Amino acid sequence: MTLPVFPDPLPIVSPVPSADQFERACGDCTACCLLLAVVELNKPMRFACDHQGQGGCRIYSDRPPTCREFDCGWRRGEVPTGDDWRPDRRGVMHVGWTEQPGGQRRDYLFELWPGALSDPAVVAWLQGHTRTSEITLSYRNGTWQTLIPDGTDTMPG
Ligand code: SF4
Ligand code: SF4
Repeated sequence: MTLPVFPDPLPIVSPVPSADQFERACGDCTACCLLLAVVELNKPMRFACDHQGQGGCRIYSDRPPTCREFDCGWRRGEVPTGDDWRPDRRGVMHVGWTEQPGGQRRDYLFELWPGALSDPAVVAWLQGHTRTSEITLSYRNGTWQTLIPDGTDTMPG
């Protein structure tokens, strides 16, 4: 079942940094520059940023706060930390945070290209994640699906 869980754009949230967040370098990945909304630039979700160049951000030293404060789940160590899980290589980008106040956990997994969310490695990670926690999937075609721990919804694939 496909469920719209909140309207685009994704609310911009600056997660509390984890201690090891800078152990993984972005390198030439620019997945978040495509997937996320940047309110300061009026950039909607899933549209390439006008400032994206072949070598990365062309306004890197002047990029807006939304860009400066964002770290995906791979950088934060919230998905497998191997190089093959870098978002532009695995095809999925994780965003997660704990709401304050309230302490509710929010997890999203964004698909960079069609089929990436059905990759066996991604499905295996999702199966582990959904044993204990809800996660919302954002497919490349703009549809959404929420997987909940009691298994009411279906796994992708
Ligand atoms: S998606 Fe993650 S690894 Fe890729 S550029 Fe953004 S923060 Fe860096
Ligand atoms: S301004 Fe730079 S860092 Fe921000 S989304 Fe655009 S290309 Fe990416």
